[in-house]
Amino acid sequence: MSYIIIDETRCKGCGLCTIACPKKLVSMSENPNSMGYTVAIFTGPEKCTGCMLCAEMCPDVAITVFKE
Ligand code: SF4
Ligand code: SF4
Repeated sequence: MSYIIIDETRCKGCGLCTIACPKKLVSMSENPNSMGYTVAIFTGPEKCTGCMLCAEMCPDVAITVFKE
């Protein structure tokens, strides 16, 4: 099973990762980080393929993919 970890301190809430994921496994939370940006959250590892599209899309290198 693959999964991602989103570094909330780097996330600027742009939402690009939510568009990038073909499985729609990333969405925007309503919780702001320390800089006031609402951050992206991973909604479940069940369907994650580890394709890395979300991480490649993120301009702030906030997403790390773990492929197992
Ligand atoms: S690695 Fe691929 S499937 Fe997994 S959350 Fe990122 S874009 Fe979606
Ligand atoms: S692409 Fe990166 S900076 Fe933008 S919402 Fe997703 S994790 Fe945050």
